[in-house]
This record gives sequence, C-alpha cells and structure tokens, in this order.
Amino acid sequence: MSPHAHRVPDAPGGGLREFDLIRRYFDRGPTRRAALGIGDDCALLAPATGCDLAVSTDMLVAGTHFFEDTDPEALGHKALAVNLSDLAAMGARPLAFTLALALPRPDEAWLGAFSRGLFALADRHGCELVGGDTTRGPLNVCITVFGEVPNGAALRRDHAEPGDDLWLSGCTGEAAYALRCRLQGRPLAAGDPAQLRLDRPEPRVALGLFLRHLARAAIDVSDGLLGDLAHVCRRSRVGAEIDAASVPMPAALRALPPGDALRLALAGGDDYELLFTAAPENRAALAACALPHGLTRIGRIVPGEDVRVLDARGARIDIDVGGYEHFGA
Ligand code: ADP
Ligand code: MG
Repeated sequence: MSPHAHRVPDAPGGGLREFDLIRRYFDRGPTRRAALGIGDDCALLAPATGCDLAVSTDMLVAGTHFFEDTDPEALGHKALAVNLSDLAAMGARPLAFTLALALPRPDEAWLGAFSRGLFALADRHGCELVGGDTTRGPLNVCITVFGEVPNGAALRRDHAEPGDDLWLSGCTGEAAYALRCRLQGRPLAAGDPAQLRLDRPEPRVALGLFLRHLARAAIDVSDGLLGDLAHVCRRSRVGAEIDAASVPMPAALRALPPGDALRLALAGGDDYELLFTAAPENRAALAACALPHGLTRIGRIVPGEDVRVLDARGARIDIDVGGYEHFGA
C-alpha cells in the first residue's frame, strides 16, 4: 500500500528500512516452484495442469490469537501451520504463501526468530514465500496459502452423507488444556507435550493427501471439534453422532474429571487435527494409515441436523459446545 505514515521507519538507533527488512528476513532469492516470487507487483503461480488452486487466509492478532510475549519462532511456525492445516483439510498440496506483517517496530532479534520458525515449517512442506506486505502497526500476522488439488478431488465440507463413518486424526484437547493452565496462572513448561500442541501444531498435510480418494467430507479442527463438526453437518444437511467412549483421550487430560476432559477434547479448540467422514467400505484402508498420529473412528453421520454426543448406553450427553466466537457477547 502507499507509504503514508505507515512505512516501517528507521529506528533512532539505526534500525531497518522496509526493503532491507524484506530482503534480510523474507526474500530467499529465486523460487523453485512458483514462476515468480518476491520483488515484483505480483507473484506468479503455476499450478499443475488439471489442478484447482486452493486458497486460504488466516490472520493471527496479538492479544486475540496469541499472547504479546509469545516466542517469535513459535509464532512464525504457528502462523503458517494454521494455514497449512486448511490446505490439509481440503486435500491440497502446499505450493506457496504470502505474508502480510504489521510490526510495532523492526526488531531484528524478533524478525530473525520469527522467520526461522516460519521457514523451518515452510521448507518441510515445500511451500514458498512469494510475496506479502510489511507495515508498522500493532503486531499482526496474516498469511495466505496456495495449494493445488486435482480437479474434483478436494475434500469439501458439504459432501458428508448419512451412513458415513466419522473419523478423527490424533487427539484433541491438549492445546485448550495448555491455554487454560496459562490463563489460570500456572502455565505448563515450554517442552510439555500439551504446551507444544498449543505453540507448535503440526498441520496434517500428508494425511490430507492420503484422504483424497478415501474421505467424503473433511474439516480441520480449529475452533473445537463439536463446533467444527456442526459446520460440516450444516453444509452437508446431515446430523452426526459421536460415541463419547471412543473419543481419544490424550495423557494430559486423563487425570481430570471425565466430564471436564471430554469437554476439553470436544469443545477446546486450536487442535489442527482433521475430522472427516468416509464410507464404511473404506474402513480397512483408513485403519491401515501408517501416519504416526493415527486415526480413530469416533461416530457416524446420520439423517437430520443434530450433532449429538452419546454415552456407552446410547443416551445423550450434554456438552457446553462453546467454540470461540469472535463477535460473541
Ligand atoms: P507494492 O507496493 O507493489 O505492494 P511492496 O513495496 O509492498 O510492493 O513490496 C515489495 C515486494 O516485497 C513485493 O513483491 C511484495 O510482495 C514483497 N513483500 C513485502 N512484504 C513482504 C513480506 N512480509 N514477506 C514477503 N514478501 C514481502
Ligand atoms: Mg505492498
């Protein structure tokens, strides 16, 4: 955007100019997969013939999505991870991303750590930074990812059918538990597995590709499993049942009262696992999935529009769904 008052200025002690900042921390030279990367008015992407371009944006705002004092390396990782998770949920292969960054000041230590975390994850998924925007302002990180998926193969939210099995990758609830511990003033250690789930989620990209011809509908669990399942059900005009006893319980939650643990697992959020539906004839193929996080069948798609959680005898369990609503009361 035009310079205005918003360019990152020279800091009094000899800070960085905008273009030096981009060159030093974000421009890594010629691209390998994109036709043109950083430096021109637009980047040029060339998805493979026969593929749709999958596009998704996620914004992380200091104070809303992360604490102001968050380790910048973890923030660089997470800002891209939440976007790659959307590509995974669509069955798309990562191709490139753009980065719009607002910074209160051009802090070199912060930028170095942030870009390290960002590129470590980007390189693992062959996803190139091809452009962006840099401005002064309250800390805000907005990434747009681009992926490719063969025409017609995308895993959409609106394709679930009654009779489908409902599957979940890995387990949910640890990130919400770590967040709760911090909000209650007794944060977990940085290396605690639950804390790592919150700070460094691993997008299930390989799983998304594996599911292309096995799943019918999919979503990534970012706002709580039940809330995200409700999105699939609404879009597909179906209902769903979850068997509480089959919901995988991570170690961190096993010491909690069962009702509390179940609520964290089903309504916590920030999990970035994949929740998907598949025809029962694909059970064996899905059970053979060799990815380390594993897959669990947690319920089924049914006619109607209700999402219900059932106990071992088939009676309904009421759970305060919550799900984070930015403009809620
Ligand atoms: P314009 O004014 O044409 O939008 P800019 O001066 O904002 O261009 O940016 C110059 C180049 O640097 C562009 O190619 C843009 O995509 C890239 N760029 C700017 N900020 C970032 C960033 N944070 N990360 C990666 N590329 C960036
Ligand atoms: Mg610009």
